[in-house]
Amino acid sequence: MWTYHPDLLATPVPRYTSYPTAAEFGPLSATHFAEALGNASGAVSLYVHIPFCEKICFYCGCNTGKSGKRQRLESYLDALVCEIDLVSDMLRSDAHVRRIAFGGGSPNAISPTEFLSLVDCLIARFKIDDPTFSIELDPRTFSAEWAQAIGSVGIERASLGVQTFAPHCQEAIGRVQPEGLIEHSVDLLRQNGITSLNFDLMYGLPHQSQDDLHDSLQRTVAIAPDRIALFGYAHVPHLIARQRVIDGNALPDPEERFAMAQLGHAYLTEQGYRSIGFDHFAKPSDPLAQASATGKLRRNFQGFTDDQSLVLIGLGSSAVSSFPKLLAQNEKNSGRYRMQASQSRLTTAVGIARTDDDRVRGEIIEALLCRGSATIDPVLDEPVLNALRPFIELELATLDNDQLSITASGLPYARVIAALFDTYRPQSVRRFSSAV
Ligand code: SF4
Repeated sequence: MWTYHPDLLATPVPRYTSYPTAAEFGPLSATHFAEALGNASGAVSLYVHIPFCEKICFYCGCNTGKSGKRQRLESYLDALVCEIDLVSDMLRSDAHVRRIAFGGGSPNAISPTEFLSLVDCLIARFKIDDPTFSIELDPRTFSAEWAQAIGSVGIERASLGVQTFAPHCQEAIGRVQPEGLIEHSVDLLRQNGITSLNFDLMYGLPHQSQDDLHDSLQRTVAIAPDRIALFGYAHVPHLIARQRVIDGNALPDPEERFAMAQLGHAYLTEQGYRSIGFDHFAKPSDPLAQASATGKLRRNFQGFTDDQSLVLIGLGSSAVSSFPKLLAQNEKNSGRYRMQASQSRLTTAVGIARTDDDRVRGEIIEALLCRGSATIDPVLDEPVLNALRPFIELELATLDNDQLSITASGLPYARVIAALFDTYRPQSVRRFSSAV
């Protein structure tokens, strides 16, 4: 049973898919990226960004645009191939790719034929070693031809943007997709080799009640995806202009959101899903649950992951690359990205060098969010002790010497507790969302 402490949730906090977070990125020269790339060895992962969707959802915070103009889409893919050529040439021969993730936007905004060409290009240019492929998909534009393409590449992991089954909530967020469409997409994916299927769901949506959420969860469990990510909708129209269409008065209040998060956690764990991190759930047989059970769960730009690589190379506009000592983001503007990449120039625009202190704090934050505990010895001082005190007094966390652990009732406060170790946070509060 969780207890609602509004004062502890009052300050927005990052989702910590990296530390430092993207809010701390500043101008970065491509030379830094080239140097980090040249030093990478061993297993590396690739993330390929397709910044297009056929229909744009009102709530979406991703870097994406309408796929309407064919020519724009084709020239983006041409530029992406130029970037793949350039980056693969700069990698050392002892760096081999073990994971390739396609995200966006919606990778299925491009045609299956274009997708297969892209995969062929990656395979031809990188040294690839028994890779694990994953892909994000929009069910509204998913087709049998796309499912066959997925099967022919041997992709085993897919994620469907479902969000809610409630028709009135779907209307309110600009994402209308009948249940039959989702079920059909799931059938196609299962028939074509997907063994780890994720559903993205949301609570805190406009006009959404606890009954609506419960109903969506029941329908989800009946379809039985292997993983479920249950995100709280972050309404930040001051940062994401397309969210201004959403009526802020129709959103559940913070206490209602908290109750929804609790409902989701209780229901999914009762149904046999393991709780992963602070907002994911997985069947015990799924690789994510196994990584969690063996202490190997990690957090990167795609959220919770079982990926153990220390190097993630982002390809495409706005894609972020992560190295032990550097975070680097490509040009976000798709026009500028196309121009630079097609001239065979690296498109690095912003990022941050990770200091030793950043790395220590990043490891603590990742450990707290992934494993629920961390050794905080390197940063344990009086201010940290004072900041932790309310959480310890309310039994949301325990501190045993230098071992900080988040209790079961502290789970909804995990991001807030992790944020206590973020030295940048006080400067960039407006950019984040509520922890629940
Ligand atoms: S399909 Fe996904 S990426 Fe595209 S607009 Fe909707 S939420 Fe954003």
